[in-house]
Amino acid sequence: MSQQKLLEIINCSVSYGPIQALNNVSLSVERGEVVALLGANGAGKTTLLQTVSGLLRPTTGQIIYQGTDITGMNAEKIVEKHLIHVPEHRQIFSTMTVLDNLYLGAYHHRRSTNKQTIEANMNKVFELFPILSDRKEQLGGTMSGGQQQMLAIARGMMAEPDLLLLDEPTLGLAPLIAKDVLELVRDLRAQFGTTILLIEQNLNASLRIADRGYVISHGEIIKSGSSNELLNDPEVKEAYLGHTVH
Ligand code: ATP
Repeated sequence: MSQQKLLEIINCSVSYGPIQALNNVSLSVERGEVVALLGANGAGKTTLLQTVSGLLRPTTGQIIYQGTDITGMNAEKIVEKHLIHVPEHRQIFSTMTVLDNLYLGAYHHRRSTNKQTIEANMNKVFELFPILSDRKEQLGGTMSGGQQQMLAIARGMMAEPDLLLLDEPTLGLAPLIAKDVLELVRDLRAQFGTTILLIEQNLNASLRIADRGYVISHGEIIKSGSSNELLNDPEVKEAYLGHTVH
């Protein structure tokens, strides 16, 4: 695994009108890593991912991706750079088939990528998510919650991400299904070499698959370290007080 910085967030602050959601946040992700961003409800996790993917603009600070300053760049341009965001609540196209949902994932580079490459990516995705291959013609909205989450991640993979931002992929899933989804996230890195920045509320489960993590609280990074360091840090658990630590 080469230790080259793929993403660097430097002193970023983000506000929604008078509400400051992020305050001077710095975070980096090396190529090949799985990094967990942990924190309670309302801590600023989604805001951070939306800022990286160009949906929100920071009031101060910089975002560097593959050595290029992408601060304030529009979201479509960022997708073209293979920085792909799988948002929370899955957001698949529920009245379209599984197959069409996957083709839409490849849409942004259809003009520049040939049909064979798209089919090859589809086959790789089906190897990792065989349930999607079995259910190709099923409407997305009729799949179970866990299957829809797999479809959302698989659609993201069709865009050939160098960096995949995953916003709470286990949200609302039963514990056993959530475990399966997180194991698939780990397999993505193993099979595709994809670098992943993962938002999770489930501290233990996410640190089991991540290399490192950051803890965010009230818009500020309060802790960072290897997964082992964070798992054994009493202050980290305290940041979750009032919330279930699984
Ligand atoms: P959750 O896990 O509940 O999604 P989160 O850690 O992702 O939480 P954010 O959604 O980033 O947190 O929210 C950070 C802060 O910004 C919260 O105080 C939230 O109320 C506020 N916030 C988020 N979106 C908006 C918005 N569109 N308008 C105003 N305030 C917002």
